Amino acid sequence: MAEIPLQPYAYFEGQIVPVDEAKVSIATHALQYGTGAFGGIRGYLDVSDESINIFRLPDHTRRLMNSSRMLRARLNVDADSLGTVIQDLVSKNNPRSNIYIRPFIYKAGLELTPRLNGIRDDIAIYMLAFGDYFAMDKPLRVMVSSWVRLADNIIPSRGKITGGYINSSMAKDQAEEAGFDDAIMLNLSGKVAEGTGANLFIVRNGTLITSPITGDILEGITRRSVVMFARDAGIPVEEREIDRSELYVADEAFFCGTGAQVVAIGNIDGRDVADGQRGEITATIQDIFFNCVRGKDQKYAHLLTKVPVRPD
Ligand code: PMP
Repeated sequence: MAEIPLQPYAYFEGQIVPVDEAKVSIATHALQYGTGAFGGIRGYLDVSDESINIFRLPDHTRRLMNSSRMLRARLNVDADSLGTVIQDLVSKNNPRSNIYIRPFIYKAGLELTPRLNGIRDDIAIYMLAFGDYFAMDKPLRVMVSSWVRLADNIIPSRGKITGGYINSSMAKDQAEEAGFDDAIMLNLSGKVAEGTGANLFIVRNGTLITSPITGDILEGITRRSVVMFARDAGIPVEEREIDRSELYVADEAFFCGTGAQVVAIGNIDGRDVADGQRGEITATIQDIFFNCVRGKDQKYAHLLTKVPVRPD
């Protein structure tokens, strides 16, 4: 895979600096022990071309703060001031394409002990130009992984904890090496949890179904948005445990997430989901989502933080 095209400026040690100057020591606690928490936020170029629409910025900064509480991080920023820094950084980079923003709270101390308490914390942010994470032209082929989703009393999936992503990486490698696009992971109880970097919805008899937030999943912000979009469109939604075999009898399935956006799943474990094509409810939710993020739907304008950008 090619190196990612980072935007020229990052936020590091309290300042906006050229991204090449944002460097940490090899002894950094977070690098050695995975003691960090990150956010993944998308900004879409508005249809008018005059702003970047950051999708649900306050929700993302609040979740990051919650992840950092799990890491006992002591920071001199709160969710609101972090949101302001992110907007300032977008403005400084003045992107002319869709972007992905990665704020990162990490144990910046150089101590040798794997502990959370009393180690200096810091915060960094970088951004990159970003298109689609998955190819969107045909539904995904996925497998149920033999890797089990992290349980809450091992490393909480509820937070975006850096070290926890080893678990996703194991499942992703297994899936890709077996010729699939991605994996669905089950939790320790054998119930459906989520993808390696996205939440999962299935449709049965016209009802959207997604695993509960107590099911060892990330409390996904796109997931929460999909529930809202569906209810507003009169589509019933259930948040309940999903059995593995329900994946095989579902009428539709899709992943959702900041990277994944809303993407249809056409085949699970070699079995087509219905006729293997993108389903009707999936297409409806996709349309609502993309209209929202591109600023085409005033009804959901409140979900966007607009940062003005200048033409070249
Ligand atoms: N689950 C996992 C494991 C993820 O990494 C992500 C991506 N952040 C999601 C779900 C989707 O969450 P969100 O919609 O907040 O991006």
